[in-house]
Amino acid sequence: MARVAFIGLGNMGGGMAANLAKKGHDVRAFDLSAEALEKAEAAGCLIAESAAAACDGAEAVVTMLPAGTHVESVYNDSVFGIAPPSAILMDCSTIDVGTAKRVGEAALAKGLTMVDAPVSGGIAAANAGTLTFMVGGSAEAFDRAEPFLTDMGKAVIHAGGSGAGQAAKICNNMLLGAEMVATCEAFALADKLGLDAQKFYDIASVSSGQSWSMTSYCPVPGVGPETPADRDYQGGFATALMLKDLRLAMGAAKDVGADTPMGARAAELYEAFAAAGNGGLDFSAIIRMLGQDQTRS
Ligand code: NAD
Repeated sequence: MARVAFIGLGNMGGGMAANLAKKGHDVRAFDLSAEALEKAEAAGCLIAESAAAACDGAEAVVTMLPAGTHVESVYNDSVFGIAPPSAILMDCSTIDVGTAKRVGEAALAKGLTMVDAPVSGGIAAANAGTLTFMVGGSAEAFDRAEPFLTDMGKAVIHAGGSGAGQAAKICNNMLLGAEMVATCEAFALADKLGLDAQKFYDIASVSSGQSWSMTSYCPVPGVGPETPADRDYQGGFATALMLKDLRLAMGAAKDVGADTPMGARAAELYEAFAAAGNGGLDFSAIIRMLGQDQTRS
């Protein structure tokens, strides 16, 4: 078991740090929020005075922060020059590919080993230790990160070199955003054509229109397995986070000159839905904007 610095104990990081502690690691945790620190302490982590204090003497560093700016400043101010050169550095936040590569290169230049390792799976998966990690970095970095990531997840996949984890994450979530919009508009059209939602589900879920958004995360209440739609779109994956990932995907597409018309349209729709005050609702609630009023079901 290792001494692990964990920085960023929010909705996701709190559960991930708790799982590392449960596996027997000596977790030194830090967050700017006193409430997050209290929860981590109750979950078996030791509280560090600062991010730098957590990294001092660490064999592994895990960060789970809101965005690229936080990641860059935490690594520059509190990890580089403090974490021992033998430590493996893992950033699990979802951030832009450019920042991930820049921080990974800065680590390499300082003789440190780092991976970008964003996750798929929400707060429930973070708490349950069933996240999927998509990892960018050298083969050696992956081999060193894998045992720690396995302690927090159900699948750990090497995507490629530095930044490849973030690339996989935003491509996956761009696909998910577009697929959810398409699923919602299909249900809305079916409704307008007089088709019962359950009947349409029974048919499309075993036909070529089937998708994860349809059969695992159906946006219509009372249809398919239990989903956030059955809880008035509370919990789940917030619209604001889907929008964040779509913006990252659009930024990356622009940087490399990729044409992503479906992703761009999904981004526009989620921008409008969030701007109308729905950022806190699960992302499947966009069905309300696409023509089917689910409150009546
Ligand atoms: P969150 O806002 O709940 O947690 C972020 C934490 O980072 C907060 O507790 C904040 O206080 C802390 N923080 C910010 N700056 C800091 C600093 N300089 N030093 C120490 N702590 C600092 O966010 P979250 O939902 O846990 O998401 C974290 C990351 O995971 C994001 O990049 C998000 O996009 C990604 N993600 C989230 C989900 C989800 O369902 N919530 C799913 C997949 C990926």
